[in-house]
Amino acid sequence: MRRITASLLLASWAIPAHAESFFVSTQDEYAVAAQKLQPGDVVVLANGTWRDFEIVFSGTGAPDKPITLKSETPGKVIIAGRSNLKLGGRHLRVTGLVFQDGYSPTSEVISFRRTKTDLASDSQVTDVVIDHFNQPDRFQSDNWVGLYGQRNRFDRNYLAGKSNQGVTLAVHLDTAESRGNTHSIDHNYFGPRPVLGSNGGETIRIGTSAYSMHDSSTVIENNVFDRCDGEVEIVSVKSGANVVRGNLFLESSGAVVLRHGDGNLVERNVFLGKGKDHTGGVRVINRNQIVRANYMEGLRGTGFGSALAVMNGVPNSPVNRYVEVDNASITDNSFIDSSRITLAAGADSERSAPPRNSRFSGNFLQLTSDGESIAVEADVSGIAFSGNVLAAAATPISGIAAKPAKLTRAANGLLYPDRLDVGAPRDLAVPSLDDTGPRWYAKPPRTAVFGDDDPVAVGKGGSSLVAAIAGATGGSCLALAPGTYTIDRTIEISSTICLMSSGKGRATIMFARAPLFEIARGGNLRLAGITIRSDDAPDAVGNAVIRTAAQSIPANFTLELDDVDIAGLTVNRAFDVISIGKSAMADRVVISRSRFADISGKIVAAHSEIDDFGRYNVEYLDISASRFDTIRGGIADVYRGGTDESTFGPHVRFVDNVVTDSGAAEIPVLALTGVQKIAITGNRIDRGGPIAMTRTTGEPDVSIRNNRIDGVVE
Ligand code: CA
Repeated sequence: MRRITASLLLASWAIPAHAESFFVSTQDEYAVAAQKLQPGDVVVLANGTWRDFEIVFSGTGAPDKPITLKSETPGKVIIAGRSNLKLGGRHLRVTGLVFQDGYSPTSEVISFRRTKTDLASDSQVTDVVIDHFNQPDRFQSDNWVGLYGQRNRFDRNYLAGKSNQGVTLAVHLDTAESRGNTHSIDHNYFGPRPVLGSNGGETIRIGTSAYSMHDSSTVIENNVFDRCDGEVEIVSVKSGANVVRGNLFLESSGAVVLRHGDGNLVERNVFLGKGKDHTGGVRVINRNQIVRANYMEGLRGTGFGSALAVMNGVPNSPVNRYVEVDNASITDNSFIDSSRITLAAGADSERSAPPRNSRFSGNFLQLTSDGESIAVEADVSGIAFSGNVLAAAATPISGIAAKPAKLTRAANGLLYPDRLDVGAPRDLAVPSLDDTGPRWYAKPPRTAVFGDDDPVAVGKGGSSLVAAIAGATGGSCLALAPGTYTIDRTIEISSTICLMSSGKGRATIMFARAPLFEIARGGNLRLAGITIRSDDAPDAVGNAVIRTAAQSIPANFTLELDDVDIAGLTVNRAFDVISIGKSAMADRVVISRSRFADISGKIVAAHSEIDDFGRYNVEYLDISASRFDTIRGGIADVYRGGTDESTFGPHVRFVDNVVTDSGAAEIPVLALTGVQKIAITGNRIDRGGPIAMTRTTGEPDVSIRNNRIDGVVE
């Protein structure tokens, strides 16, 4: 260990002479240095990868002399393997670390407490990265960051790619020492969080229902939430007196939910949905909530996930249900090109208490014309409406004036109505991605899963194809020569791979071992213009052409089949084309312009989550313009059980297909259980089993039209 007296490096008036810098290269050296830290001391971790490193960082610094743990070079210290960081004490500062390629052996990656009684206060974690640091099993729960103690700051960090269960950042109020904390969570980049398909996919949660009667007084300010799609709650406020201010919510499915606790302030935030499904704004529950001067544009959420939802409450509500809205103030917000605001949302026999003593004033609304743009689900006489403008020809509520309005995009990139002084303030600043997270760590790209890179030619023969896939880098597109590729093994797909026929003729893959493809961690697969046959696959239980790995896959994946021809999978009674196993989650399964014939199993089996925890296997299933002939197991089986309300999917679209001789009287052509959005249109089904739809939760959006079923138009 090299020891450098800091006064040699810095002017002596800046840091007292006894402050020291410890440069450490091993975990043993770190342990020695960490034992005797004094105010102003700095521990420097050598550049490189530190594997299986459980960092305990504790001590007592001083307000102007924190104890610092830093990287030799920001971004060059990688914490990998089974690793985490615990802080205990006061005036600590951690900076420059990157957590990647691993996961925490405990329930948190960064804990602002060393033990249950040694909490961190007046401490800061800044310029730190946590990137895809996921538990191996998607339903092994952890939180990436746990805030405890008082007056801590978590700023300029990068957190993206959390795909396992548990909150990205949680503020804990379970002891008195952590309440009224005035923590600051600011200038962070909360990057893409894929759909979890279950509760527990929040990006931030402040408190829990059990302690929600306490104030947390946490400030969430100037952060970017980019594609945070984990579940219906992006930010779940479960405590009082918090401030959510000046953040950008970009293409994030979900909403800021004032779920429990009173007296929270949501102001000057910008929500840009860009037309993506389920993008929402703010949901109001409880007492004394203020929602003012926010800007919403391009949001497509409805119901609880509307651009604004003001809920009906439960009279004398238990702490874990819905406290009545009382004294809410919703003023000077703009709702532009958004699908819906919903008032008295969720009114039913239990949620029978309408909002009261509340104000809705100075808001500007320009909502999309399709459907009901202002939904009123119960009595709203407890809301005083004044000075609002709806850009429309008519209005459903007096107090919201209907006026035509021309919108102009201002220098800040936001739309404002010409000559109308209403809605969000003109001086709103939209946080930029560059102003959040460490400057030295690139933000994830906004590209499609399967790019359009030039394809790489694959030589003839099965071994050439196996070698090409094994050697492929992520995003590769491989062009197969005309002719037959005979494959004698299961091919693992652990990166993004596209297989297509070259322009010279169609390629056939003949496989002798099932599955042909196994989707593993990091795998995405697209097949285009390929024929697949299996003359001699063995008779094995669970046969499939494409199957997910037997162990859980922590990352979501995408499958696409376009112009694919698969036939003759009859060696046993349940030979599926695509089979998605337990704890696996597909973001999308897309089948288009394809042909399937003589298959004993199902085309898409996505019914493995039968524990009824509200989990499921596919978010979007889209089957179009395809032919299905003699598919014994039916085309698709999608299952979401339980009554959990934390997710938006699954979505199933079945359009313009031709189905003959498939399923049976007891075997549905489509078995859709708990699917939240169903579109079945333009299909022809002759001699097929039934279409079975079972509602388990929510209010599914079902559209079935223009189908010809056994000659009958339905
Ligand atoms: Ca939740």
